[in-house]
Amino acid sequence: MKDFNYYAPKTVKEAVSTLAKLEGDGKIMCGGQSMLLLMKQNMLTPENVVDIKGVSELDYIKYDKGKGLAIGALTTHSAVEKSSVIKKNYPVLAEMEDNLAVVQTRNWGTIGGNACHGDPAADPPAVFIALNAKYRLVGPEGERIVDAEDFYKDYLEVDIAHDELLCEVQVPVIAANTGLAHGKLMAQKGDMGVVGAAALVTIDPSTGVCRDARIVLTNVASTPFRARSSEKVLIGKVIDEKLLEEAGKIASEEVNPPADVHGSEEYRKDMARIFLKRVTAQALERAKQKK
Ligand SMILES: Cc1cc2nc3c(=O)[nH]c(=O)nc-3n(C[C@H](O)[C@H](O)[C@H](O)COP(=O)(O)OP(=O)(O)OC[C@H]3O[C@@H](n4cnc5c(N)ncnc54)[C@H](O)[C@@H]3O)c2cc1C
Repeated sequence: MKDFNYYAPKTVKEAVSTLAKLEGDGKIMCGGQSMLLLMKQNMLTPENVVDIKGVSELDYIKYDKGKGLAIGALTTHSAVEKSSVIKKNYPVLAEMEDNLAVVQTRNWGTIGGNACHGDPAADPPAVFIALNAKYRLVGPEGERIVDAEDFYKDYLEVDIAHDELLCEVQVPVIAANTGLAHGKLMAQKGDMGVVGAAALVTIDPSTGVCRDARIVLTNVASTPFRARSSEKVLIGKVIDEKLLEEAGKIASEEVNPPADVHGSEEYRKDMARIFLKRVTAQALERAKQKK
C-alpha cells in the first residue's frame, strides 16, 4: 500500500473543512471495509486519507412516528441489524443486514460507507431505494438532500463532491398495507449477492389491487437497477403468478449484468427474473398481512 497523509477530524464541521482545504486531494475513509481492499491492491492510492470514524455525532438511529427513520452515516451494519426500533418498524433492513457480509465487517463497516462506495452489488442501497429513502449530504455551502435513487451514477460513482460528507439516510414512514422484502443469491450466507432484489408492494386491502410497487435489482447493471417497467405491469392490478412472471421476464430483458466467475450474463439475467418474482411475491404476502 502506498503511503498517505492521515487526518482524523472529530466533527462534521472539521471533516468538511479538512476536505475543502485538501481541494479534491482528500479521500474519506470510514470503516475501511471496502476502501482498504482497493488500497491494498493499489487500485486506489489517495495522497490524503480523511478518517471520519471518530465523528461520533453521526452514529445514531432515530425514529419518529410522523417523520420516519434517520440513520446516521456512521451507524454500523450490526447496529442496524440489532436495533429494536428497526426490527419493529423497518424489519426489511434488519433482514437485509442479517445476510450482509461476516460479523467482523458488520461490526466495523458503516451504512454511510456502504451507500457511498457505489457498488451495484451492495444490499443497503437497493433497500433504501425501494423504501424511497433520501441521503443528507453536508459540504462547505451547507446541506443538500438527494433521493437515494438519483445518488448512483455509475460503477463506484456517486453524486458527491470532493468536500461533501454523507451524514444521514432518511427513510420515510411506510404506508399502510405495504410489505417489503429483500433477498439475494449467495453461494454462502453473507456473500455479496450474485444477483439480489428488494421490493415494496402496497395493496388496497378491500380489493387486493396493487397501489404501489418499487422493485430494485442488484448486480445486474452499473448501478442499482430500478425495475420500473416491471412495476408498471403490477400497479393497478391484482398481482398473481402470471403477472409476476411477466414482470420478471421484462426485467431480465432490460438488465445488463456483468459476467464473472460467479455467473454468466445469461445466468444473471435469469436470476434477475427469478429473484424479482420471489422477492416481490414475499413483499405482497407481507402487504396482505398488514392492516
Ligand atoms: C468480506 C466482505 C464482505 C462484504 N459483503 C457485503 C455484502 O454482502 N453486502 C454489501 O452490501 N456489502 C458487503 N461488503 C461491503 C461492505 O459492507 C461495505 O461496503 C462497508 O460497510 C463500507 O463501509 P465502510 O465504513 O467500511 O466504508 P469505507 O470502506 O471506509 O468507505 C467506502 C467508500 O465510501 C466513502 N465514504 C465512507 N463514508 C462516507 C461518508 N460518510 N460520506 C462520504 N463518503 C464516504 C469512502 O470514501 C469510500 O469511497 C462486504 C465487505 C467485505 C470486506
